[in-house]
Amino acid sequence: MNETKFINSESYLEKLNQVKYDPESEEILTSVQNLEKSMFQDSEIVNNSEEYLNKDMSLENSECTLNFKYVQLEEPYLKEKILNDLQPKYNIDIKNLYILKKFIISLKNNETKLDIFTLLPNDYEIIFTPHTINPPETKSSGCLNIIDNFIYTYGDPTSKAFPITLLHEIGHIVDKENLKKNNVKSLINEDQYSDYAEELRRERTASAYAINKLRPFVKSKFIDKKDLLNYLKNDSLGSHCSVIEFNIARLELRKETGELINKYITSLEYYETIINEYAMLIEEHQKLNNDLIQIQIDKEIADEELQSLLYKNEIEKHEKRIKEYKNEIEEYKKHIEECEEEIEEYENEIEYSLNMIKESDEIAEYNS
Ligand SMILES: [Zn+2]
Repeated sequence: MNETKFINSESYLEKLNQVKYDPESEEILTSVQNLEKSMFQDSEIVNNSEEYLNKDMSLENSECTLNFKYVQLEEPYLKEKILNDLQPKYNIDIKNLYILKKFIISLKNNETKLDIFTLLPNDYEIIFTPHTINPPETKSSGCLNIIDNFIYTYGDPTSKAFPITLLHEIGHIVDKENLKKNNVKSLINEDQYSDYAEELRRERTASAYAINKLRPFVKSKFIDKKDLLNYLKNDSLGSHCSVIEFNIARLELRKETGELINKYITSLEYYETIINEYAMLIEEHQKLNNDLIQIQIDKEIADEELQSLLYKNEIEKHEKRIKEYKNEIEEYKKHIEECEEEIEEYENEIEYSLNMIKESDEIAEYNS
């Protein structure tokens, strides 16, 4: 067995910055639309999907022939599983859950051919719901369930996007089997970001698999290379990247909030120290004042000239020290005010951060 080479997560995640992705950009939207529309002008598969059930379909245009067959998904366990897990995301109608049995695209002007089921491992099923790109906010997509061994996809089986999504998901299966073969769970060095880096690696690997399998179709100009890259970026990598970025930001937020709370605690401890010192100063100041009053009384009743002079010196010394204390007390007061302001600021910042964490947890829960 080959020794597994692990990747450093930080350098891997730097690739995130290379993925410039704007899901709203005209370029991405155009590529997605190009690939998601049906290749066959009069195809009604999506609207009349039940009519085509159990039939060996063959559709043709000037460029290619598409052969496919699907049957109804009957297995109650899988039906329930898909409805429970995927319904909110894909808006699935239970009537429209099909198992794909055959999917072959052959080009007319050369030998280029793709037979999905020669690539799909035997113990996997492809379950799908036919769907058009209308309304535009619903787009084709896919996911993989490795526990129950099925790929689920949502889209128009007569579009070019359909096999791209399937190949990406098969790429995930191949990658998972490679990990299993090497007896590892990840190819990324373990650290706090390794889960996200591994997620990104898996997406890139799955997309690389799809690109590789589609190379002859790109070469034959059946699939536009830019459209393919944009589509994969949009469908898997792009959306995953934003999820990964979001999760890293959440992690950073927790770290920063932790640091903020530490600074807050340090501030509170310092505040306690200066409040104690301030109280001591006040006490000392009070004591000096009392002493001064006593000396003034003593001076009043002193009957000797020398004694009176000594008291006078003592009074001056006391007055000087009292003034010093007074200044120091004023300074402490300022200090305490500053410290209170700082503490209040920390409290506001912490409250804000905790709210952000709460919000991001809610978003994360909603997305999962
Ligand atoms: Zn993926």
